[in-house]
Amino acid sequence: MSEALRVLLVEDHPIVRAGCQRLLEAWGKTRVICARSLAEGLRHLKEEAVDLVILDLGLPDGGGINALKRMLAAMPALKVLVFSMHEEPVMVASALEAGARGYVSKNDDPAVLLEAMTRINAGDIYLSHSVAQKLALMNVRPGQGPLRGLSAREREVLALLGKGRSLAEVAAALGVSYRTAAAIAAQMRAKLNLSSMAALIRLAVEHGSAVAEENRPGLG
Ligand code: CA
Repeated sequence: MSEALRVLLVEDHPIVRAGCQRLLEAWGKTRVICARSLAEGLRHLKEEAVDLVILDLGLPDGGGINALKRMLAAMPALKVLVFSMHEEPVMVASALEAGARGYVSKNDDPAVLLEAMTRINAGDIYLSHSVAQKLALMNVRPGQGPLRGLSAREREVLALLGKGRSLAEVAAALGVSYRTAAAIAAQMRAKLNLSSMAALIRLAVEHGSAVAEENRPGLG
């Protein structure tokens, strides 16, 4: 790299942000701009030239996959590296599906973050080893939607959960027993490799609009 890579670091946690900034500055190949929220990050994107974004998914003003989508909507060619504490394969797959160029866990070694930036800047897709391994276990390839393996019934349940309905309300809406609704949710958790009902609900909220669209007749 002859010219310094212009990196936008979006991270609300002060210690993590400072640590990352120091790591990048010590590396000597980057010029770092820091943002503490999604709104601040989007403002920087509008005002300054940025080559690569390091994006935390847990932001105070609307993080998650939606933050990634909003950044890419603002600048479709942007190279975004997700830097998150969430290692659930479904999150990784969702981020890649939404257009992230890489995914590094906060549990990874600092050198991995630098390696990821080099590779992404060169045009590659990069997943840290730990993340890639978990993704492989789920049998989802980058670029393939994690929800593809769900049945129509499961998608219906997911869409309702994403709208904030309880399992009892989901059961009533679909005209099935609570036990049946709970069994469908449990089956989805197993398919998506999610450790808790909370993780399933978080996924449902993040994918709410996408799931609803896929449920619309004629869109298959
Ligand atoms: Ca955070």
